[in-house]
Amino acid sequence: MLARRLRPAAGRWASQWSSAHRYYSSQPSSSGTPDIDVSKLTVETTSAPKPLLDAKDLIFGRNFTDHMLSVEWTAKDGWLAPRITPYQNLALDPATCVLHYAFTCFEGMKAYKDANDRIRLFRPDRNMRRLNRSAARIALPTFSTDALTSLMSKFVELERRFIPSQKGYSLYLRPTLIGTQKTLGVGPPGSALLYVIASPVGPYYPTGFKAVTLEATEHAVRAWPGGVGDRKLGANYAPCIVPQIDAMRRGFQQNLWLFGEEGYVTEVGTMNMFVAWVNEDGVKELITAPLDGTILEGVTRESVLELARERLSKDGWAVSERKFTIGEVKKAADEGRLLEAFGAGTAAVVSPVKGITWRGHDIKIPLLPGKETGPLAQKFWDWMCAIQYGDEEHEWRYFKPRDILVAPRYSRTC
Ligand SMILES: *Cc1c(COP(=O)(O)O)cnc(C)c1O
Repeated sequence: MLARRLRPAAGRWASQWSSAHRYYSSQPSSSGTPDIDVSKLTVETTSAPKPLLDAKDLIFGRNFTDHMLSVEWTAKDGWLAPRITPYQNLALDPATCVLHYAFTCFEGMKAYKDANDRIRLFRPDRNMRRLNRSAARIALPTFSTDALTSLMSKFVELERRFIPSQKGYSLYLRPTLIGTQKTLGVGPPGSALLYVIASPVGPYYPTGFKAVTLEATEHAVRAWPGGVGDRKLGANYAPCIVPQIDAMRRGFQQNLWLFGEEGYVTEVGTMNMFVAWVNEDGVKELITAPLDGTILEGVTRESVLELARERLSKDGWAVSERKFTIGEVKKAADEGRLLEAFGAGTAAVVSPVKGITWRGHDIKIPLLPGKETGPLAQKFWDWMCAIQYGDEEHEWRYFKPRDILVAPRYSRTC
């Protein structure tokens, strides 16, 4: 049953679907059991709606909406009836496997309000697919991506009052999947909980871009071949904090993750890394590391690449997914060929980089005169925002009619 459910997805990205993934995704634990059934959703609304914070007081990931969406799973009964309930604490036995062996994976995505007051999700199919790949890698159950997308669209409709209408604001959505089995035995969890919480967020750059400086990290490695750096597993993130703090203590905003003796450029903090240069062949090139198993397959990364191929190629740009080294970046800077660098991810969309320090060398990256961004980062930011907020109609948007769920109406000022 599970194998059958996964087959259409496997066809779409067969090239990245290694035999190892096939093994992990056909866990017998969840085979033959029911998938998520949207029609079984129950909704219990809160009797104590939270006051809305002033837009200026929103801190990323600190405040949450009134409700949460939860779906439990057991190996015996499959996915149980989905529930929307008031936002509440989880009750977990101290022996629950997630707390010991990190059976946890997550997603980060946003809901945006457009000019017609419709709520839009941005390419949710990508996040759902990625969550399934993460889940499969750590023996957690997979699910119908359409069912969870549909549930999430009902959930965000219910929470619509929390989404500020101003540009730059959105509702950050955090789907999370954890193993809930009570056992210290190391094995596939026999039960799991999928839940979604939502946090209203403001613009990453409230006063315009602020280009960052990076320290290239060589003493620690984020991801390695055969590892799990290409999955959004909780276990990938805690070990990255100390190298990040080290870089910050030395005055850099973020660290740049390198890999191997060659010094391959991989990612920046928790964003994908893009560099624009005139390459050794004299061609303008936008380059990012390939999805070789050590790179998180960012939705923003994919979107930037697609937009670049569609809209920049006519201006002579080559768009490449291939390995490149920090040495090549330095050489390009030394020879005046380095044009721009930026990170890409859901939180900031794009994050311009103005400098990288590596082995005592300061690699300076050009910005637009008097600005804190380069021209490409600015372009991608404009293009992405236009699509995300619906100013430009595009196939990447997802929304359902407003009346999908009859939600209690709260006053905006309560
Ligand atoms: C989430 C994440 C990204 C960005 O992915 P988006 O889908 O664009 O938000 C990049 N790198 C890492 C390590 C991440 O965890």
